Amino acid sequence: MNPKETKFAPRIPKPRKEEAEFGPGKIDIIMCKNCDSVYYKKSWHHRLEDHKQFSEDKRIKFILCPACQMIKDKKYEGVVTLENLPQEKREEILNLVKNVGKRGFKNDPMDRIIEIKKPGEQIEIFTTENKLAVIIGKQIKRAFKGKLEIKWSHQESTVRVKVTF
Ligand SMILES: [Zn+2]
Repeated sequence: MNPKETKFAPRIPKPRKEEAEFGPGKIDIIMCKNCDSVYYKKSWHHRLEDHKQFSEDKRIKFILCPACQMIKDKKYEGVVTLENLPQEKREEILNLVKNVGKRGFKNDPMDRIIEIKKPGEQIEIFTTENKLAVIIGKQIKRAFKGKLEIKWSHQESTVRVKVTF
């Protein structure tokens, strides 16, 4: 995700104390007000336990990070659909999906599974990041031998991944 394309400024409710105090162009660190993500060095990171990067002279601004904003707006970049799931493998497959999601989130706080929907036989997994959906599809195919289909949208920003068993 290119941070330059994230338009967080218009979404900030005003007036905010931080903004009034710091003024524009004087912010050193941006923190998500919903999760533990911190924006510095041009990308989002998990907040470090020791908070060492926040020395007192740093100016902090609170916003919603792009992933939290996307979840709030009920948007997604990737969706994985699992069809004709073998029932005896259902739990195992779900565990794999959750583990891939956890790994993705650990590597990049913007990569998340938003929701796993289980209407009947089918399972749908929504992700904040398109590549995470592709990785989930590939891992399931590799482990459980499904047929994998990947369809990118015209703008290549969203992806629909389908694994059929
Ligand atoms: Zn967040």
